[in-house]
Amino acid sequence: MARVSQVEENIYEIHPELNFMFSLSYLVLGERAALIDPGSATQADIVLRAIEEILDFDLDSLSYIIPTHLHIDHAGGVGHLARRFPQVRIPVYERHIRYAIDPARLIDGNKQTFGENFADKFGTILPVPEEQIIAVDGGDTIDLGGRQLKVVYSRGHANHHFCLHDDKSGGLFCGDALGMYYPEVDGVVIICPEGFDLNLSLQTIEQLRSLAPQVLFYAHEGTGRETDDLMRRAAVELRDCGDIILAALKTGEGSKQIEERLNQYFKENVSKELKYEYMYLDLTVAGYRRYFQKCGEIQLSGGTN
Ligand SMILES: [Zn+2]
Repeated sequence: MARVSQVEENIYEIHPELNFMFSLSYLVLGERAALIDPGSATQADIVLRAIEEILDFDLDSLSYIIPTHLHIDHAGGVGHLARRFPQVRIPVYERHIRYAIDPARLIDGNKQTFGENFADKFGTILPVPEEQIIAVDGGDTIDLGGRQLKVVYSRGHANHHFCLHDDKSGGLFCGDALGMYYPEVDGVVIICPEGFDLNLSLQTIEQLRSLAPQVLFYAHEGTGRETDDLMRRAAVELRDCGDIILAALKTGEGSKQIEERLNQYFKENVSKELKYEYMYLDLTVAGYRRYFQKCGEIQLSGGTN
């Protein structure tokens, strides 16, 4: 069963207690309710049950389901939820709506990253009905009644990623734009999968710092309060990891060796307690490799083992 905790007034964090990749989901209440990052289909079932049983919330009164981006651990279950709750509206970054309506490309990407049988764990990805989608771009506002969520377009982790700034708490639902935060060790670990762009990521962090959020509601692992320092640390890691990975790629090192270098880096600079399997270093190495290929820093054929 999921764990539910109140992280600010009328904001609930729902931890699905899964043993494979998941995001935290957040239920945000104004006069209307929004569920941010419902997760994969497997996760979404658990989250909904927790909302009903632990929070005694009537799901038929849910107005919005808002994935910060379309990665499976944030949005895989949105198509299922849309069918189950036809009243719900789903904001999606305007130029990527076609992938939500026809998820063939998302499904292919997940097969490449998590294997042919990814759906055995995560559940299937269903198309999101177009009539339930609301196109959003940076600067738009989602009005929950007495509470506004402002859309902050935030590229870098993914091209279609946005954060949500909550005017009531002053907090920022930052998705994966600022890495993952592990409160028990006060550690930030960046996550940079396929589609990642280092420069855009760094620009996004500066943009988010300029908002001076009061709280950071991370999609992975917890809530951070020392917000400017956490954002600064994410930027340092992005640069450091870029340097480490590029140097290693140029000498022809393979992915496993580079993952080990990053593991050492995070153990030394963040915390010895960090668990290898929850840092997703394989995804980060793959994301940087593709980024450096795109920039022409390394050859397309360079070291893919
Ligand atoms: Zn992501």
